[in-house]
Amino acid sequence: MADSQPKSLAPLYITMDEHDNVGIVANDGGLPAGTVFPCGLTLVEKVPQAHKVALVHIPEGGEVRRYNVVIGYALKDLPAGSWINERLLRMPAARELVGLPIATIKPDPMPPLEGYTFEGYRNLDGSVGTRNILAITQTVQCVAGVTEFAVDRIKAELLPRFPNVDDVVALEHTYGCGVAIEAPDAIIPIRTLRNISLNPNFGGEVMVVSLGCEKLQPERLLPPGTIPLIDERNVADVGDSATAKPDVVCLQDDAHVGFMSMVDSIMRQAEEHLQRLNARRRETVPASELVVGVQCGGSDAFSGVTANPAVGFCTDLLVRAGATVMFSEVTEVRDGIDQLTSRASTPEVAEAMIREMAWYDAYLDKGLVDRSANTTPGNKKGGLSNIVEKAMGSIVKSGKSPISGVISPGEKLKQKGLIYAATPASDFICGTLQLAAGMNLHVFTTGRGTPYGLAQVPVIKVATRDDLARRWHDLMDINAGRIATGEKSIADVGWEMFQLMLDVASGRKRTWAEHWKLHNALVLFNPAPVT
Ligand code: CA
Repeated sequence: MADSQPKSLAPLYITMDEHDNVGIVANDGGLPAGTVFPCGLTLVEKVPQAHKVALVHIPEGGEVRRYNVVIGYALKDLPAGSWINERLLRMPAARELVGLPIATIKPDPMPPLEGYTFEGYRNLDGSVGTRNILAITQTVQCVAGVTEFAVDRIKAELLPRFPNVDDVVALEHTYGCGVAIEAPDAIIPIRTLRNISLNPNFGGEVMVVSLGCEKLQPERLLPPGTIPLIDERNVADVGDSATAKPDVVCLQDDAHVGFMSMVDSIMRQAEEHLQRLNARRRETVPASELVVGVQCGGSDAFSGVTANPAVGFCTDLLVRAGATVMFSEVTEVRDGIDQLTSRASTPEVAEAMIREMAWYDAYLDKGLVDRSANTTPGNKKGGLSNIVEKAMGSIVKSGKSPISGVISPGEKLKQKGLIYAATPASDFICGTLQLAAGMNLHVFTTGRGTPYGLAQVPVIKVATRDDLARRWHDLMDINAGRIATGEKSIADVGWEMFQLMLDVASGRKRTWAEHWKLHNALVLFNPAPVT
């Protein structure tokens, strides 16, 4: 965990590749004009922490290289030792989606990592939960208030009787009606909701609250056969073939007289599910049952130096252990698409990746923007000049393993290994879509700082800087800033992360977001029209 005092450090800049002509200032608070680095380079002006300094004279129009990638072209002469920020750079154009290297990199297989386990909840469909949660699915936003009222009472009156159940969570969202439900892209929010309700942390105990008149009818959300058959109680009436039907409380049902009768119905149904969930027990399972979603938010120039490389190292450990790791955030990989298509395990995987990028290019195009709409004022304040630089730091979360599969927004995972799960970079939407894919553990890196958390899965937060880890000592679970100060290596922090994942997945440790119950909203990705 974080230390309590800032560390004084000799003037230090960090480069990512020997061909880089800029470095980033590592020291807390930045460095003043006149600072002399051990190599003799002198700052000609003050450079804030995490911001870039020119290591050599860069002429007007010259390439500015970081990660051995051109992140921009100088808009004027930049003397050695000057501060380089977004106002001094012209951004390169996005790489075309044709003529990309396809599955060209064939890395030597990494040795399997055996013998690592965690204590998880094994489900009927073979998946494994890291928490034991009753989730209440909603077909439409109209029922959110009633469900919330009922959930408060369930927590107060029922949950104490079921000590093996961790929590009761309403899957609230803004979809379900007032939307063009026949539009082709409506499949994205619909399958997202469907697949979230099947997340491994909910034990297959699907219960639904519906209004009655909404466009997203329960049978459309969860057609017969999509949820596991628990026992005779949820068998659908479809002749001989046994298939499960969702357990639905419909508020407009004639049987409901008065608000309290609706609340009573929800509580009665919840109690049945709680009884079954309460009978679940953790068992020892291999680390290969981890399904980890990695994400970053509130990034700075350290993200790609400390936290994200440590996540990348850990990603490779997880893949070696046979687990599943998803990386996402289309606009933050778009500028490195050639790195990803070359790392695809097969041409089909590379083509799927290109398809997702092309779909997203068109989606942004319709809104008259491009991938550069991604960066925030905080990113720039944190030293990230543009989306090219941000993307290079973001991609390293994916480690070095071959990419073995691609899923579209809202789809459920079908295989293990390193998977590209296409999602927007928006923290809440990305997390929501990774939940739908079947994530049972979430890792989130931040440089500027965000208190992000989800009610449905544990979120391990990783600080990119010592300063952030120190100030947010009771929000950050891992301090990757120790990599920049030289106290720890990327491998040290990667292993620490791996061990913490096994502890958190087993329920032996709780993350800070769990401790404080910091829960962000589920936000569905709906590219289809509303009506
Ligand atoms: Ca994000």
